[in-house]
Amino acid sequence: MDFICVLMLIPRSTYLEKELEKRFNLLKLWTFPDKTQFIKDHAESVRAIVGSGISTIDADLISAFPNLEIVASFSVGLDNVDLELCKEKGIRVTNTPDVLTDDVADLAIGLMLAVLRRLCESDRYVRAGNLKKGDYKLTTKFTGKTVGIIGLGRIGQAIAKRSEAFSCPIAYHSRSEKPDVKYKYYPSVAELAANSDILVVACALTQESRNIVNREVMDALGPKGVLINIARGPHVDEPELVSALVEGRLGGAGLDVYQNEPEVPEELFKLENVVLLPHVGSGTNETRKAMADLVIANLEAHFSNKPLLTPVV
Ligand code: NAP
Repeated sequence: MDFICVLMLIPRSTYLEKELEKRFNLLKLWTFPDKTQFIKDHAESVRAIVGSGISTIDADLISAFPNLEIVASFSVGLDNVDLELCKEKGIRVTNTPDVLTDDVADLAIGLMLAVLRRLCESDRYVRAGNLKKGDYKLTTKFTGKTVGIIGLGRIGQAIAKRSEAFSCPIAYHSRSEKPDVKYKYYPSVAELAANSDILVVACALTQESRNIVNREVMDALGPKGVLINIARGPHVDEPELVSALVEGRLGGAGLDVYQNEPEVPEELFKLENVVLLPHVGSGTNETRKAMADLVIANLEAHFSNKPLLTPVV
């Protein structure tokens, strides 16, 4: 298949690059200084694009390659891909579900513990030599807190399962109640927030779920409540989040994602009740390799006329 041109948009995994290079004619967009010239030179030859959760695959990019057959994303979320246009043009789209679920759910639990028990702040306390001066202040217990989950999909359910092991009552909100789930369902996010100690965002990003955590939801969660976002930044009204935290209307936040990545609101840097991670939900060696293998398997299946492993379109 080494005659097939595959375009990779941004560097996400050296393993993925190497494995793609073994099989295809891999073009790495970031190595071409003039993108317009690149498109002119390769418009006809590109048959596949490898994207990721942070690279935009919009109408302009899709239309630039008339022979594009498949978009294989190195992510589960496809909010950055124009799925409607792909469907219209008969371009197949795949993602990497399931293989990253455990890591993202583990990280959500890590963030809950880190915020409630002030793990990062305590670490800074010890490193600054303050242990000699006295004990660190008391923090908040995690076990038994009510965990409210927005979006009870693969990751949401894995977070629920882990939270149950900490004796946490679970509640959730999604577009419809799940008949086979024993957790309490709330038809509105504000109601879920009002009845949760910790609110976790784990839903897909769509037009409908943009700013799903707004001022009303944050106020319902309240000054003792904690918001965890491991899904996508635009789910949360970020300026409202900053004011709620600065004004003490919200108890704390654990964030892996931001509205305008790589920008992070600087007001958050000085807040000890906030834990900030650099979008690393799936960022372990094991999972990134499994994601890369799935991207490759989908491309190989497509170009061998076999069924795709994880088709979305
Ligand atoms: P999934 O299995 O498709 O679950 C997504 C859930 O979102 C569905 O259960 C859906 O439930 C719910 N949902 C969709 N629209 C909603 C809305 N308007 N309100 C409430 N719930 C809504 O996907 P997943 O594998 O769990 O992944 C979830 C998301 O996590 C991804 O889309 C991605 O953005 C994010 N993610 C982040 C990282 C990271 O690095 N931080 C890594 C992987 C994934 P209903 O259909 O019942 O509404």
